[in-house]
Amino acid sequence: MMPLQQVTILGATGSIGVSTLDVIQRHPDRFSVFALSSHSRVEKLYHQILTFEPKYAVVATPQQAQKLQAQVASQGCQTQILAGPEGLVAVASASEVDQVMAAIVGAAGLLPTLAAAQAGKRVLLANKESLVSAGKLFMDAVRDNGAELLPIDSEHNAIFQCLPAQWQAKQRGPLFSKGVSKILLTGSGGPFRETPIAELANKTPAQAVAHPNWSMGQKISVDSATMMNKGLEFIEACRLFDAKPEQIEVVIHPQSVIHSMVQYSDGSVLAQLGQPDMRTPIAHAMMFPERGQSGVEPLNFADIAKLEFLPPDFNRYPCLRLAIEACQQDQESCTLLNAANEVSVARFLAGQIGFTDIAAVNGEVMATGTDIRITVLDDVLAIDQHGRALAEQFCAQR
Ligand code: NAD
Ligand code: MG
Repeated sequence: MMPLQQVTILGATGSIGVSTLDVIQRHPDRFSVFALSSHSRVEKLYHQILTFEPKYAVVATPQQAQKLQAQVASQGCQTQILAGPEGLVAVASASEVDQVMAAIVGAAGLLPTLAAAQAGKRVLLANKESLVSAGKLFMDAVRDNGAELLPIDSEHNAIFQCLPAQWQAKQRGPLFSKGVSKILLTGSGGPFRETPIAELANKTPAQAVAHPNWSMGQKISVDSATMMNKGLEFIEACRLFDAKPEQIEVVIHPQSVIHSMVQYSDGSVLAQLGQPDMRTPIAHAMMFPERGQSGVEPLNFADIAKLEFLPPDFNRYPCLRLAIEACQQDQESCTLLNAANEVSVARFLAGQIGFTDIAAVNGEVMATGTDIRITVLDDVLAIDQHGRALAEQFCAQR
């Protein structure tokens, strides 16, 4: 019998967090929950605590922590409640922990995710913004501390599954040298794939978050509608797989059956297929290199009438172009764009700017740029702050 794997879930109350707990519940012989975190949905966290009885839980403020501590104690539950970024870092790096699910949304997840990497954990990376923002610094922390980085983002998990076994087994390095000629990054095109471009300006937050295939948090749903999500994933793929921008091709695949593909120099193309359900990549990464139940039904090929593939239209998805350009430029551009986008999407969701203003604001921030160069983490945080301030300013002018 293997000892139980102790798991910390950062962002436990979100879409990925809930799917992770669902997988854990199917494997009481493999996994035990060490810690859970939530930013605002404390009521939901309370119920998760009573169900999973973690050693720790983390909320945003000391006031919230004190109140929640009294509530769980009154139920006879031993969980200790921590607060704030220090609490997140503590549960991400604690010596008892084996695996950390990084499922906080946005660059807010950077410090605890980095702490998990520095502590040499198996890092299950859903929080793509932290990798996009910190780039090489994050990858260096993984390598230098013997951490194991496994992608949860369905495309990157698919790519990982299609890579050569020796690459998967930590003998990483540039893909070219392993006979890989291209990564084919698929995306559905989101809810507005067929909307006349002239009508995009009037699209509401409710329409933007109604994704045709996947059920996800609000921010990533809006990113899917603008295809900034595919742009962030483009950057994520370059960093994770040590690939060059010209080795990655974005392919629109409306059915979301193929989750991405890897093309080899001999003409072979390997694809990973499955239902659009994040429990598959979560279960894969948590049990890697073994396989186990995820609760996801297998594909029924008789039900799949057709698979379509189209090139992306950059006039429809200007955010995708911005991200690819940032990736071709430098890490600073990627950090800046991610920060700008977090602000413009939040303003859109709050009803303060229109749908097409997201790309316009992001473009204005990129045109302004930054003089800060990244050598240490503080430089990343400084560009992040700079990008947010610029984006707030451009949003206010809309
Ligand atoms: P979500 O909005 O459903 O959940 C976000 C979680 O992060 C919540 O638990 C929330 O409490 C916590 N959180 C939010 N702001 C925080 C802050 N400032 N500090 C600490 N915690 C905070 O989001 P999600 O859809 O689960 O996505 C989480 C991450 O996974 C994102 O980076 C997203 O891009 C990525 N991802 C999600 C999916 C998906 O299917 N949902 C797929 C691929 C990648
Ligand atoms: Mg994805």
